[in-house]
Amino acid sequence: MSGFIEGEDRSQATLFPERIDDYVAEDSPVRVVDVFIDDLKISGLGFRTVPNAIGRPSYHPKVMLKLYVYGYLNRVQSSRRLEREAQRNVELMWLTGRLAPDFKTIADFRKDNGEAISLVCREFVMLCRKLGLLNNTLVAIDGSKFKAVNNRDKNFTRAKMKRRLAAVEESVDRYLAQLTEVDATETDDDKGPVLEKKIAALKEEMARLKKCEVRMLEAPDKQLSLTDPDARSMTSRGTGLVGYNVQSAVDSQHHLIIAHEVTNVGSDRSQLTTVAKQAKAVLERDTLEVVADRGYYNSDEIRACEQAGIDTYLPKPKTSGNKAKGLFDRSAFKYIDADDEYECPAEQRLTHRTTTIDKGKKMKRYWTSVCSSCTIKDQCTTGKERRVSRWVHADVLDRAQARLDKKPDAMRIRRATVEHPFGTLKSWMGATHFQMKTLPRVSTEMSLHVLAYNMKRAINLLGSKEIMAAIRT
Ligand code: SF4
Repeated sequence: MSGFIEGEDRSQATLFPERIDDYVAEDSPVRVVDVFIDDLKISGLGFRTVPNAIGRPSYHPKVMLKLYVYGYLNRVQSSRRLEREAQRNVELMWLTGRLAPDFKTIADFRKDNGEAISLVCREFVMLCRKLGLLNNTLVAIDGSKFKAVNNRDKNFTRAKMKRRLAAVEESVDRYLAQLTEVDATETDDDKGPVLEKKIAALKEEMARLKKCEVRMLEAPDKQLSLTDPDARSMTSRGTGLVGYNVQSAVDSQHHLIIAHEVTNVGSDRSQLTTVAKQAKAVLERDTLEVVADRGYYNSDEIRACEQAGIDTYLPKPKTSGNKAKGLFDRSAFKYIDADDEYECPAEQRLTHRTTTIDKGKKMKRYWTSVCSSCTIKDQCTTGKERRVSRWVHADVLDRAQARLDKKPDAMRIRRATVEHPFGTLKSWMGATHFQMKTLPRVSTEMSLHVLAYNMKRAINLLGSKEIMAAIRT
């Protein structure tokens, strides 16, 4: 061994320092966990752990919370692994005072205290605000799909069910045809029973699928997930996954997650207001600017945000088919606010003729009677005249567009802001994102991930010592 660095002798009597505190560096993140949780006013957060009057005393919620926050900070999320780590990890021994709860106690704490844990996550965001880490005016909102425990094969939609039933039926038909052939030729005595076995197994599978189909059709959204009943099939970057859609509002300055929400709705279209309002409440502001991608463009949501004092920056989706057909698209018609009329490319005025309800929205319809004699009609419409519809609250959308026009770098800011947290969280979570089942429990898990993400980010930005000093003051 000579010529190499040598360790100390295992049988040496005084190998370790006497105080467990000496093992933990002064600026270790575990000290931030300790100081932050010790400072929490736990009684107001609604933890369901109460001291046992009789029998074995229970663990204090702060101890359990420290265990979990440390675990999520160090990518140890499972209760069984936390149990093991509490027995052998020196930092955890230091953090919990050498308490090592069993995995069931650890798991039950997370299961029973979802709401309280989400409030702890919010408390840390408040601390970040106190530390001046949040840009109080602009947040980026985005959603990302996270995989549930539920395997894709254990999720059924109408289309998937149809495909699977068809595949089973096709296999049954194929084996039956082979069986008929074997019976007719009487060449292979062994093949008949083998085929009969396969057909019986397929019929069993068919019966199982039919039962699943009944349950699936009973569900409001006609979807069934066998392992995690709340997980839903959704598309993510062109492929499908079974999971949850996590919405987050991210600070544009330091990329801290200000607010988040776990949903099992695959689309972002109706999510904007909920998360934007949460972010505004956390920041305690009268007004707020939010930037999001075109997947969030929804006139009702934009209006609800405006009413709540939230200015949105959203690009409009390009849905008009007219341009593809070689016809003028809607942007060629200029709205004249003072007259409540549209001016068309032939400089004719389209006046308000009627008001209708379309998909629950009150729409005003405009047209002119001179289209039949128009020289550019073939570029405008294939009908009798070109009609233009306008939502009665379309002024909200006009203001949103005007804001976006004045901030051309809004989408660049959005991209640079929201992609960082989601990428980091998914790499921490590994191949299987969530470990728990059902929406409330998955939400708890996400709160712990967000808390760990924000804590790590704040430590990287300011350093452990400054954060601890701020908590203590
Ligand atoms: S067809 Fe009618 S709406 Fe279109 S450009 Fe001509 S006059 Fe205007």
